[in-house]
Amino acid sequence: MSIMTKIIGAVTAGAGAVILFYGISNPEIDFLVYFVGLIVMSIGFSLFNAGRTVQERKPPPPTVTEIRCDNPECTFKEIRDFKKGDYILKPVEVPCPKCQGTMTVHGVYMVREEPEQKYAV
Ligand SMILES: [Zn+2]
Repeated sequence: MSIMTKIIGAVTAGAGAVILFYGISNPEIDFLVYFVGLIVMSIGFSLFNAGRTVQERKPPPPTVTEIRCDNPECTFKEIRDFKKGDYILKPVEVPCPKCQGTMTVHGVYMVREEPEQKYAV
């Protein structure tokens, strides 16, 4: 079934490419042909990739970053959304809102779907 879809997709994409090429190489032809070729080709490609894109498009699980103040006397701790480039022991640019000291990333966690495990340390 999925192989059949792939074949149909490849054929459709190929046909689209032919139409597209035909439209480009013949300037007197209405640009609608070019457009149809583009659409047919994109349909073919989406058919061709239909089997695997389902898994690839799954969004990554939400991740949170735990930040703690470096000052041992300050107990400030914050959980915020994970930002690209966050890693454990990364210094945080933002000063501590409580003591204006430096803060460090202390953990990066995946958020589980179960609410009781949401901010598990
Ligand atoms: Zn602090």
